[in-house]
Amino acid sequence: MADSKQLKRPNWIKTRTTGVDGFKDTLNVIKTRGLHTVCEEDLCPNIGECWKNKTATFLIMGDVCTRNCGFCNMKTGRPFALDENEPDRVAEAVKDLGIKYAVITSVTRDDLEDGGALHFANTIKSIRKLNPDTKVEILTPDFKGNVDAIKTVLEAKPNVFGHNMEVVKEFHSRVKKPPSSYDASINFLKKIKEIEPSSITKTGVIVGVGENKSDVFRFIDDVAEAKLDVLTIGQYLTPTKSHSPVVRYATLEEFAEYEEYGKKAGLKVFAGPLVRSSYRARMIYDSICNPLN
Ligand code: SF4
Repeated sequence: MADSKQLKRPNWIKTRTTGVDGFKDTLNVIKTRGLHTVCEEDLCPNIGECWKNKTATFLIMGDVCTRNCGFCNMKTGRPFALDENEPDRVAEAVKDLGIKYAVITSVTRDDLEDGGALHFANTIKSIRKLNPDTKVEILTPDFKGNVDAIKTVLEAKPNVFGHNMEVVKEFHSRVKKPPSSYDASINFLKKIKEIEPSSITKTGVIVGVGENKSDVFRFIDDVAEAKLDVLTIGQYLTPTKSHSPVVRYATLEEFAEYEEYGKKAGLKVFAGPLVRSSYRARMIYDSICNPLN
């Protein structure tokens, strides 16, 4: 997958510096509580901005994933046993940082019968117990389509239930390996709505892996047809030189076209080079639930 010819990053992709006050506070809390974040593990380009503002996306159930996708920086292998105290430590970190909108995600845990659904539910409950005013958004793996696992999570009433499709249909099987599949992911998201029609569902995709604009428009159609609520579209950035290379950089105008197209299809689409599914998640939630704020 490595490619010595990396495209030059365009000047509209600017990331902020780390090391400022809020950033250090966030880092201290995460390290003191012994937690992982996807911000660090996936080398997110927004870490400077998010951590400065004391927001982070907590990565539960360890930092070792049982799947191995071409664009992801996560370690793969055999994960450790679940840490039963982790939900409480996440809740404490949320309190330490004064987070009013917490985002929780995980590695894929195909080794667990329920894929980690109960651990997600326990984390939501722990956060709420210690931080009654905090909203919780979750971004889960596909639980291999296990309907009981979806119900377990829904019973804990997350404010937003997300699962990332990651790439458009035409490139799914190239960068994601079974048991991941495009249909499995979209069916998973449809199932959430089917079980709990009032839930807010969210998915995200990255562009720049080789797709063209028509592929992305078709993808938006699929998401709209599945009656999901929110779609985020961002630019793929190679985590390291050994990962799949960036094939092209979408322009700002192109991202604006996707937002416009999605809007016409009845979707909330947030698109931009540095948009990630957890980026400015609270703002997106507020724009849906409190549109006048
Ligand atoms: S966009 Fe999400 S993953 Fe990236 S730094 Fe911000 S909170 Fe972390």
